[in-house]
Amino acid sequence: MTRFVDVPTLSRMVDHIGEIKFFNFLVDYLESDYQRWFEFDKSARVAAHSEIGVIELMPVADSERYTFKYVNGHPGNPTQGLMTVMAFGVLSDVDSGYPVLLSELTLSTAFRTAATSVMVARHMARSDSTVMALIGNGSQSEFQALAFHHLLGIREIRCFDVDSNASEKLAYNLSGLPGLRVILCESAHEATKGADIITTVTADKCNATILTPDMVSPGVHINGVGGDCPGKTEIHVDILQKSRIIVEYAPQSRIEGEIQQMPEDHPVTEFWEVLANKSKGRINDTEITIFDSVGFALEDYSTLRLINDCARELKLGEDILLVPVPDDPKDLYSLLGRARSRLKKAG
Ligand code: NAD
Repeated sequence: MTRFVDVPTLSRMVDHIGEIKFFNFLVDYLESDYQRWFEFDKSARVAAHSEIGVIELMPVADSERYTFKYVNGHPGNPTQGLMTVMAFGVLSDVDSGYPVLLSELTLSTAFRTAATSVMVARHMARSDSTVMALIGNGSQSEFQALAFHHLLGIREIRCFDVDSNASEKLAYNLSGLPGLRVILCESAHEATKGADIITTVTADKCNATILTPDMVSPGVHINGVGGDCPGKTEIHVDILQKSRIIVEYAPQSRIEGEIQQMPEDHPVTEFWEVLANKSKGRINDTEITIFDSVGFALEDYSTLRLINDCARELKLGEDILLVPVPDDPKDLYSLLGRARSRLKKAG
């Protein structure tokens, strides 16, 4: 049987574990998988683009498990009452090919993206960072705010969105959290004033310039999350030129990330190199660092691994017959109604 974790089940799982602990588990799982970088069979995701969006498949495997995520990106969806990003995924056993887990990954992607941002920021942001600008206040934004507050010590979030309702929703969802001040700003310029970290998490299928050089002071860490498709970027090329850029998996980021705007040989650091001490984290208090996040399949592998472990430990989710288990593995036909009724008659 395959364990099925739907959206309400994932939500119950997080309630049971607690949001902060769930984030911490995710960072632990992510780090331990990034430390095994060379054990994974990696590839850039496979994308099917249309004029208004993209649908992507994100596979990765090691010798034990294979995972994939199905995810879309349709920035115009909210005007139709649909989400911009939705996802689900599968974790399978490599030895048998058997699907062990089928899970929702929309809520989980928001958790994993924020956990990945914090994991990288721990190495790249100044250790005295307390103020974060958060530009783009849609579905991902609460998760980014909470992860940076609880796991990195951010105490002030300066929000901006072209849709003021989205910013008010964010402020409402974050209200009442002790030790966190949320400030609604009139512009991205205002939001970035005095920020130690700038998170951009907007959705628009175009080469936007959410951040221009005048908005970025020395020592800032930019957590660029929304530029994740060919022709979909957020950061002005002059900022990229003067910053140290961290990516997840360069072959995918060169196609989809902010660095699609740069020459193919522009130097970047893959995050595993920082974890393995092959490359430094932040070098000094004045360098500008950018995490050019696009979302990599390995992060969904870690997330599915965590969900599978928690579902089994907490006895959450339902076992479903996603694939057949006939008594005789060569008699698939026996599972059909006609074969069963013939058997009954014969009996
Ligand atoms: P969403 O549609 O719920 O929210 C996006 C918000 O951006 C909206 O509120 C919109 O009004 C705002 N926005 C658009 N243009 C803006 C601008 N110029 N200035 C300020 N705000 C602007 O989408 P979401 O689910 O929150 O996703 C946000 C982005 O993050 C998407 O581009 C998505 O593809 C990306 N994403 C990346 C990763 C990753 O791993 N890097 C993971 C998930 C989502």
